[in-house]
Amino acid sequence: MDTQTTVAASSSSAKTVGAIILVGAPGSGKGTQAKRIAEVLEIPHLSTGDLLRQNVSRGTELGRQAKQIMERGELVSDELVFGMVADRIKLPDCVSGCIFDGFPRTVGQAEWLDRHLNGRFVDDKQQPLAPIVIQLTVEYNSLWQRLTGRRSCPTCGRIYNIYLQPPRVAGVCDVDGAALETRRDDREEVIKERLKAYEMQTLPLVDYYRRRGRLLEVNGDLRPDGVTAEALKAIEHGHRL
Ligand code: AMP
Repeated sequence: MDTQTTVAASSSSAKTVGAIILVGAPGSGKGTQAKRIAEVLEIPHLSTGDLLRQNVSRGTELGRQAKQIMERGELVSDELVFGMVADRIKLPDCVSGCIFDGFPRTVGQAEWLDRHLNGRFVDDKQQPLAPIVIQLTVEYNSLWQRLTGRRSCPTCGRIYNIYLQPPRVAGVCDVDGAALETRRDDREEVIKERLKAYEMQTLPLVDYYRRRGRLLEVNGDLRPDGVTAEALKAIEHGHRL
């Protein structure tokens, strides 16, 4: 990580961060950036996609209900997602904040989250901290390349891209040598569905947060270090709003 990132880390780790929400199309780098920001700010990374996939692979009732919907690239019902998110943010590691990746995804989910978090995080003057929303904007062609080229390690979770960030040996994780996998929903016909769901259901969410003066845009086409530095700057700025 670069110097700017380290400076931001030392200045922000001691205080309550509150909720950070990353919004962006599938493939905009939300997962990668959320992990990096979570590490710097010492808050947990809460990815609804990862939580759902864990439920699917553990074969829970929730996973059983979500599996086919996810394989079609559609959105899982609010009822399932709200219960899962509410259980996760109750855990003690979320006491000073958390970073949401892939949630909320609709205006209805944003309204639910606003009600659910109401007054939960306060600053050092005991004033409620509103969520900070970062939108990662990425060109359509880059999104397509990022999604079709994405591979991940089933053991350590590290993400690669065969075009942009290939592993040293094709198909094998640099860290632990496991065979890399393609997510089932990263097949082309499913990618099209996911991008459509984003345009129809998630873009109105951007307007919801913009109207409330909470939206901060970050250019997601920069190199990963640059995106992280810009996002951390935007979070600092969001706290001063
Ligand atoms: P992601 O890893 O964020 O791209 O999510 C993968 C899939 O999980 C999505 O295509 C949806 O089927 C489901 N999913 C993740 N987050 C949500 C959410 N907030 N609401 C509904 N479905 C979700």
